[in-house]
Amino acid sequence: MSRRFDLQGHRGARGLFPENTLEGFRAALAIGVDAFELDVGLSADGVPVVHHDLALNPAIARGPDGAWLTPPTPTLHSMTLAEIGSWDVGRLRPGSAYAATFPDQQPMDGARIPTLAEVLALDPEVRFTLELKTDPTRPDATVPATVLAEAALAVVEQAGASGRVMFESFDWRGPRHLRRLRPALKLAWLTNAQTVAEAALWWDGKRPEDFGGSVPRAVAAEGGNVWAPAHEDLTEAALAEAHALGLGVLPWTVNQPEDMRRLIGWGVDGLITDFPDRARDVLRAAGMPLPPGRPGTGQMGGRA
Ligand code: MG
Repeated sequence: MSRRFDLQGHRGARGLFPENTLEGFRAALAIGVDAFELDVGLSADGVPVVHHDLALNPAIARGPDGAWLTPPTPTLHSMTLAEIGSWDVGRLRPGSAYAATFPDQQPMDGARIPTLAEVLALDPEVRFTLELKTDPTRPDATVPATVLAEAALAVVEQAGASGRVMFESFDWRGPRHLRRLRPALKLAWLTNAQTVAEAALWWDGKRPEDFGGSVPRAVAAEGGNVWAPAHEDLTEAALAEAHALGLGVLPWTVNQPEDMRRLIGWGVDGLITDFPDRARDVLRAAGMPLPPGRPGTGQMGGRA
Protein backbone atom coordinates (compact mmCIF):
# COMPACT_ATOMS: atom_id res chain seq x y z
CA MET A 1 0.00 0.00 0.00
CA SER A 2 1.34 3.43 -0.84
CA ARG A 3 -0.62 5.16 1.90
CA ARG A 4 1.30 6.45 4.86
CA PHE A 5 1.27 4.23 7.92
CA ASP A 6 -1.33 5.46 10.40
CA LEU A 7 -0.11 5.49 14.01
CA GLN A 8 -3.12 5.98 16.27
CA GLY A 9 -2.86 6.60 20.00
CA HIS A 10 -5.51 4.63 21.91
CA ARG A 11 -7.54 6.93 24.20
CA GLY A 12 -4.54 9.26 23.85
CA ALA A 13 -1.73 7.03 25.04
CA ARG A 14 -3.33 4.95 27.78
CA GLY A 15 -0.16 3.12 28.69
CA LEU A 16 1.54 6.41 29.52
CA PHE A 17 -1.06 9.02 30.47
CA PRO A 18 -4.64 9.10 31.82
CA GLU A 19 -6.98 7.96 29.07
CA ASN A 20 -9.38 10.24 27.24
CA THR A 21 -8.21 13.43 28.99
CA LEU A 22 -7.00 16.72 27.48
CA GLU A 23 -3.84 16.38 29.56
CA GLY A 24 -3.21 12.89 28.21
CA PHE A 25 -3.89 13.87 24.60
CA ARG A 26 -1.47 16.81 24.86
CA ALA A 27 1.27 14.60 26.27
CA ALA A 28 0.70 12.05 23.51
CA LEU A 29 0.88 14.80 20.85
CA ALA A 30 4.32 15.67 22.16
CA ILE A 31 5.45 12.08 21.53
CA GLY A 32 3.95 12.13 18.04
CA VAL A 33 0.95 10.31 16.58
CA ASP A 34 -0.99 10.58 13.34
CA ALA A 35 -4.35 10.25 15.04
CA PHE A 36 -6.15 9.56 18.27
CA GLU A 37 -8.68 6.83 18.78
CA LEU A 38 -11.13 7.99 21.43
CA ASP A 39 -14.58 7.18 22.72
CA VAL A 40 -17.73 9.26 22.55
CA GLY A 41 -20.82 9.20 24.74
CA LEU A 42 -23.60 11.67 25.40
CA SER A 43 -24.46 13.58 28.58
CA ALA A 44 -28.02 13.81 29.83
CA ASP A 45 -28.15 17.33 28.44
CA GLY A 46 -27.08 16.14 25.01
CA VAL A 47 -23.37 17.07 24.92
CA PRO A 48 -20.92 14.58 23.35
CA VAL A 49 -18.16 13.78 25.85
CA VAL A 50 -15.01 11.67 25.57
CA HIS A 51 -15.04 8.64 27.85
CA HIS A 52 -14.76 4.92 27.22
CA ASP A 53 -17.23 3.42 29.64
CA LEU A 54 -20.99 3.71 29.46
CA ALA A 55 -20.98 4.10 33.26
CA LEU A 56 -18.13 5.67 35.22
CA ASN A 57 -15.25 3.25 35.76
CA PRO A 58 -14.61 2.75 39.49
CA ALA A 59 -10.91 2.21 38.70
CA ILE A 60 -10.72 5.69 37.14
CA ALA A 61 -13.23 8.11 38.65
CA ARG A 62 -13.03 9.93 41.96
CA GLY A 63 -15.77 12.17 43.22
CA PRO A 64 -15.53 15.87 44.11
CA ASP A 65 -14.68 14.73 47.66
CA GLY A 66 -11.78 12.67 46.36
CA ALA A 67 -13.47 9.36 47.19
CA TRP A 68 -13.23 6.46 44.72
CA LEU A 69 -16.52 5.19 43.39
CA THR A 70 -18.08 1.89 44.26
CA PRO A 71 -20.39 0.08 41.81
CA PRO A 72 -23.00 0.53 40.62
CA THR A 73 -21.70 3.77 39.13
CA PRO A 74 -23.81 6.29 37.21
CA THR A 75 -24.04 6.17 33.43
CA LEU A 76 -22.80 9.16 31.42
CA HIS A 77 -26.23 9.32 29.92
CA SER A 78 -27.78 9.94 33.40
CA MET A 79 -25.53 12.93 34.22
CA THR A 80 -25.48 16.50 32.99
CA LEU A 81 -22.26 17.88 31.54
CA ALA A 82 -21.69 19.77 34.80
CA GLU A 83 -22.02 16.57 36.80
CA ILE A 84 -19.73 14.68 34.42
CA GLY A 85 -17.15 17.45 34.80
CA SER A 86 -17.09 17.03 38.58
CA TRP A 87 -15.23 13.68 38.44
CA ASP A 88 -11.44 13.46 38.61
CA VAL A 89 -10.21 10.89 36.06
CA GLY A 90 -6.50 11.70 36.24
CA ARG A 91 -5.27 8.66 38.15
CA LEU A 92 -5.90 4.91 38.15
CA ARG A 93 -7.16 3.59 41.45
CA PRO A 94 -4.17 2.31 43.43
CA GLY A 95 -4.37 -1.44 43.94
CA SER A 96 -6.91 -1.96 41.16
CA ALA A 97 -6.42 -4.52 38.41
CA TYR A 98 -6.60 -1.68 35.91
CA ALA A 99 -3.70 0.12 37.59
CA ALA A 100 -1.71 -3.13 37.53
CA THR A 101 -2.32 -3.40 33.78
CA PHE A 102 -0.82 0.04 33.17
CA PRO A 103 1.87 0.44 35.83
CA ASP A 104 3.69 3.15 33.87
CA GLN A 105 0.69 5.43 33.48
CA GLN A 106 1.71 8.84 34.81
CA PRO A 107 -1.04 10.32 37.04
CA MET A 108 -2.37 13.76 36.14
CA ASP A 109 -4.57 14.58 39.11
CA GLY A 110 -7.43 16.93 38.39
CA ALA A 111 -7.94 15.77 34.80
CA ARG A 112 -11.62 15.77 33.84
CA ILE A 113 -13.78 14.04 31.25
CA PRO A 114 -13.56 16.44 28.28
CA THR A 115 -16.19 17.34 25.72
CA LEU A 116 -15.68 16.16 22.15
CA ALA A 117 -15.49 19.81 21.07
CA GLU A 118 -12.60 20.44 23.46
CA VAL A 119 -10.67 17.46 22.15
CA LEU A 120 -11.21 18.37 18.49
CA ALA A 121 -9.80 21.84 19.27
CA LEU A 122 -6.55 20.46 20.72
CA ASP A 123 -4.47 20.50 17.55
CA PRO A 124 -5.14 21.54 13.94
CA GLU A 125 -3.16 18.71 12.37
CA VAL A 126 -3.90 15.52 14.28
CA ARG A 127 -6.69 13.27 13.03
CA PHE A 128 -9.32 11.56 15.15
CA THR A 129 -11.02 8.19 15.09
CA LEU A 130 -14.21 8.66 17.06
CA GLU A 131 -15.71 5.50 18.51
CA LEU A 132 -19.44 5.81 19.08
CA LYS A 133 -20.13 4.01 22.36
CA THR A 134 -23.47 2.33 22.09
CA ASP A 135 -24.10 -1.30 22.95
CA PRO A 136 -27.06 -3.24 21.54
CA THR A 137 -26.92 -5.54 24.58
CA ARG A 138 -27.46 -2.55 26.89
CA PRO A 139 -30.00 -0.34 25.11
CA ASP A 140 -31.00 1.45 28.30
CA ALA A 141 -27.44 2.58 29.08
CA THR A 142 -27.20 5.08 26.22
CA VAL A 143 -29.25 7.03 23.74
CA PRO A 144 -30.04 5.20 20.49
CA ALA A 145 -27.05 4.72 18.17
CA THR A 146 -28.47 7.07 15.57
CA VAL A 147 -28.95 9.84 18.16
CA LEU A 148 -25.36 9.60 19.39
CA ALA A 149 -24.07 9.49 15.81
CA GLU A 150 -25.93 12.65 14.86
CA ALA A 151 -24.83 14.49 18.01
CA ALA A 152 -21.18 13.65 17.40
CA LEU A 153 -21.48 14.56 13.73
CA ALA A 154 -22.91 17.97 14.66
CA VAL A 155 -19.90 18.71 16.90
CA VAL A 156 -17.46 17.57 14.20
CA GLU A 157 -19.12 19.76 11.58
CA GLN A 158 -19.30 22.74 13.96
CA ALA A 159 -15.54 22.35 14.44
CA GLY A 160 -14.95 22.09 10.69
CA ALA A 161 -13.19 18.80 11.37
CA SER A 162 -15.01 16.41 9.00
CA GLY A 163 -11.93 16.02 6.82
CA ARG A 164 -9.74 14.71 9.64
CA VAL A 165 -12.25 12.53 11.44
CA MET A 166 -13.18 8.89 11.00
CA PHE A 167 -16.16 7.40 12.84
CA GLU A 168 -16.22 3.82 14.08
CA SER A 169 -18.29 1.53 16.27
CA PHE A 170 -18.77 -2.11 17.18
CA ASP A 171 -22.46 -1.26 16.94
CA TRP A 172 -22.72 -0.83 13.19
CA ARG A 173 -26.01 1.05 13.41
CA GLY A 174 -24.18 4.32 14.14
CA PRO A 175 -21.73 4.30 11.19
CA ARG A 176 -24.45 2.94 8.92
CA HIS A 177 -26.64 5.92 9.84
CA LEU A 178 -23.77 8.35 9.23
CA ARG A 179 -23.11 6.81 5.84
CA ARG A 180 -26.68 7.54 4.83
CA LEU A 181 -26.44 11.13 6.12
CA ARG A 182 -22.95 11.95 4.82
CA PRO A 183 -21.74 9.46 2.20
CA ALA A 184 -18.27 11.09 2.07
CA LEU A 185 -17.49 10.58 5.76
CA LYS A 186 -14.68 8.17 6.50
CA LEU A 187 -15.87 5.16 8.49
CA ALA A 188 -14.25 2.22 10.25
CA TRP A 189 -16.09 -0.97 11.19
CA LEU A 190 -14.92 -2.40 14.49
CA THR A 191 -15.02 -6.12 15.18
CA ASN A 192 -13.92 -8.51 17.89
CA ALA A 193 -14.68 -12.17 18.53
CA GLN A 194 -17.79 -11.39 20.59
CA THR A 195 -19.39 -9.01 18.11
CA VAL A 196 -18.70 -11.37 15.21
CA ALA A 197 -20.25 -14.26 17.18
CA GLU A 198 -23.26 -12.08 18.00
CA ALA A 199 -23.24 -10.31 14.64
CA ALA A 200 -26.99 -10.32 14.13
CA LEU A 201 -27.18 -8.08 17.18
CA TRP A 202 -24.10 -5.89 16.67
CA TRP A 203 -24.56 -5.59 12.90
CA ASP A 204 -28.34 -5.22 13.22
CA GLY A 205 -29.39 -8.25 11.23
CA LYS A 206 -26.36 -9.01 9.06
CA ARG A 207 -24.15 -12.02 9.83
CA PRO A 208 -20.82 -13.31 8.48
CA GLU A 209 -22.78 -16.26 7.04
CA ASP A 210 -24.39 -13.79 4.66
CA PHE A 211 -20.91 -13.15 3.25
CA GLY A 212 -19.51 -16.65 3.04
CA GLY A 213 -18.26 -16.36 6.60
CA SER A 214 -16.01 -13.42 5.65
CA VAL A 215 -15.84 -10.42 7.97
CA PRO A 216 -13.92 -8.33 5.40
CA ARG A 217 -16.67 -8.94 2.86
CA ALA A 218 -19.27 -7.88 5.43
CA VAL A 219 -17.32 -4.65 6.01
CA ALA A 220 -16.92 -4.00 2.28
CA ALA A 221 -20.67 -4.46 1.84
CA GLU A 222 -21.21 -1.57 4.27
CA GLY A 223 -19.25 0.70 1.96
CA GLY A 224 -15.81 0.61 3.59
CA ASN A 225 -13.44 2.38 4.22
CA VAL A 226 -11.60 0.64 7.02
CA TRP A 227 -11.86 -2.63 8.92
CA ALA A 228 -10.69 -2.30 12.52
CA PRO A 229 -10.35 -5.85 13.94
CA ALA A 230 -9.04 -6.93 17.31
CA HIS A 231 -5.42 -7.70 16.46
CA GLU A 232 -5.64 -11.16 18.07
CA ASP A 233 -8.29 -12.10 15.51
CA LEU A 234 -6.48 -10.81 12.43
CA THR A 235 -4.81 -13.30 10.11
CA GLU A 236 -2.51 -12.55 7.21
CA ALA A 237 -5.06 -14.13 4.87
CA ALA A 238 -7.91 -11.96 6.18
CA LEU A 239 -5.70 -8.89 5.82
CA ALA A 240 -4.96 -9.78 2.19
CA GLU A 241 -8.66 -10.40 1.55
CA ALA A 242 -9.55 -6.99 3.02
CA HIS A 243 -6.91 -5.25 0.89
CA ALA A 244 -8.19 -7.02 -2.22
CA LEU A 245 -11.63 -5.63 -1.37
CA GLY A 246 -10.15 -2.10 -1.19
CA LEU A 247 -10.34 -1.81 2.59
CA GLY A 248 -7.75 -0.31 4.87
CA VAL A 249 -7.01 -2.46 7.93
CA LEU A 250 -6.42 -0.86 11.32
CA PRO A 251 -5.97 -3.43 14.14
CA TRP A 252 -6.28 -2.58 17.83
CA THR A 253 -5.02 -2.53 20.59
CA VAL A 254 -1.46 -3.49 19.67
CA ASN A 255 0.86 -2.96 22.62
CA GLN A 256 3.67 -5.50 22.29
CA PRO A 257 6.55 -4.63 19.95
CA GLU A 258 6.67 -8.19 18.55
CA ASP A 259 3.00 -7.92 17.54
CA MET A 260 3.64 -4.49 16.01
CA ARG A 261 6.56 -5.86 13.97
CA ARG A 262 4.56 -8.87 12.76
CA LEU A 263 1.51 -6.82 11.73
CA ILE A 264 3.63 -4.16 10.02
CA GLY A 265 5.40 -6.97 8.18
CA TRP A 266 2.05 -8.27 6.99
CA GLY A 267 1.24 -4.81 5.64
CA VAL A 268 -1.43 -3.38 7.93
CA ASP A 269 -2.32 0.22 7.13
CA GLY A 270 -1.87 1.41 10.69
CA LEU A 271 -2.41 0.34 14.25
CA ILE A 272 -4.06 1.58 17.41
CA THR A 273 -1.85 1.36 20.48
CA ASP A 274 -1.70 2.39 24.13
CA PHE A 275 2.05 2.86 23.61
CA PRO A 276 2.82 5.16 20.67
CA ASP A 277 6.39 5.41 22.00
CA ARG A 278 6.91 1.68 21.42
CA ALA A 279 5.26 1.85 18.01
CA ARG A 280 7.56 4.71 17.00
CA ASP A 281 10.58 2.64 17.94
CA VAL A 282 9.31 -0.24 15.80
CA LEU A 283 8.52 2.03 12.84
CA ARG A 284 11.89 3.75 13.11
CA ALA A 285 13.70 0.42 13.12
CA ALA A 286 11.72 -0.61 10.03
CA GLY A 287 12.80 2.57 8.23
CA MET A 288 9.24 3.89 8.06
CA PRO A 289 8.31 7.59 8.33
CA LEU A 290 7.19 8.88 11.73
CA PRO A 291 4.57 11.48 12.60
CA PRO A 292 6.20 14.57 14.11
CA GLY A 293 6.13 15.11 17.84
CA ARG A 294 4.35 18.33 18.65
CA PRO A 295 5.37 19.47 22.12
CA GLY A 296 3.49 22.50 23.31
CA THR A 297 0.61 22.11 20.88
CA GLY A 298 -2.92 22.03 22.09
CA GLN A 299 -2.47 24.75 24.67
CA MET A 300 -5.44 26.63 23.26
CA GLY A 301 -7.71 23.67 23.74
CA GLY A 302 -8.16 23.87 27.48
CA ARG A 303 -11.50 23.87 29.18
CA ALA A 304 -13.42 27.02 28.41
MG1 MG B 1 -12.37 2.98 21.65
